[in-house]
Amino acid sequence: MSKGKLVVISGASGVGKGTVLGIMMGKRPDLRFSVSATTRAPRPNEVDGVHYYFVTKERFEEMIAAGEFLEYDAHAANYYGTPRAQAEEKMAHGSVLLDIEPNGAKQVKQSAPEAVLVFIMPPSLEELERRLRGRGDTSEEQIAMRMERAHWEMEQRTWYDHVVTNDDAERCADEILKIISE
Ligand code: 5GP
Repeated sequence: MSKGKLVVISGASGVGKGTVLGIMMGKRPDLRFSVSATTRAPRPNEVDGVHYYFVTKERFEEMIAAGEFLEYDAHAANYYGTPRAQAEEKMAHGSVLLDIEPNGAKQVKQSAPEAVLVFIMPPSLEELERRLRGRGDTSEEQIAMRMERAHWEMEQRTWYDHVVTNDDAERCADEILKIISE
C-alpha cells in the first residue's frame, strides 16, 4: 500500500526546478525525491545515486527491456527514466517528487491517474534565456536547442493539473506545497 502521492514537477531547463524542489524538501522533510536514471554525463557537482543514477546506454536499454521503468524518454541525445522500484519504495513512506519532462509526465498520468502534475513556468522567455546563460555550463548551440525545447514543453502545460510561475523560488515552492497538501 502506498502512503504518499506521486507529484510530477515539469518545467523547461533553466526554470529553477532544482531550487524550488530543494526549498520544498527543506520545508517538508517527509517529501522524497525520485532519483532518475540517465545516460548523460554527470555535471561537476552531481553525485551518482543522489542527483541521478548514471548508467550506460546498454544498461538503460536492458532496464527498458526488463520493464524496470515507471516512465522513460529519450531527449537531448540521452535517455532519462524513473526506476519503478525506487519510486514505489519511497511512496510506501510518503509523497514522492518526480522532476521529469512532459513525455514522461504523460506516461505517469496514464499509469497512475491519481498523480498530481505541476508545470513550472518562467516569468518570461527572456528571463529563461538569461538563466540558461547564467549557468555557464551550456554552449550557444545547447542554449538554442534548450530554448526550442522550452517552447515545446511550455505548450504541453495545458494538460497539467496545475501551472505555477517561478517568479520567486520561495513563493513558488510554497504554492506547490499548498497544492500537494490539498
Ligand atoms: P538535465 O539533463 O538538465 O538534468 O535534465 C533535462 C530534462 O530531463 C529535465 O527537463 C528533467 O526534468 C528531465 N528528466 C530528468 N529525469 C527524468 C526522468 O526520469 N524521466 C523523464 N521523462 N525526464 C527526466
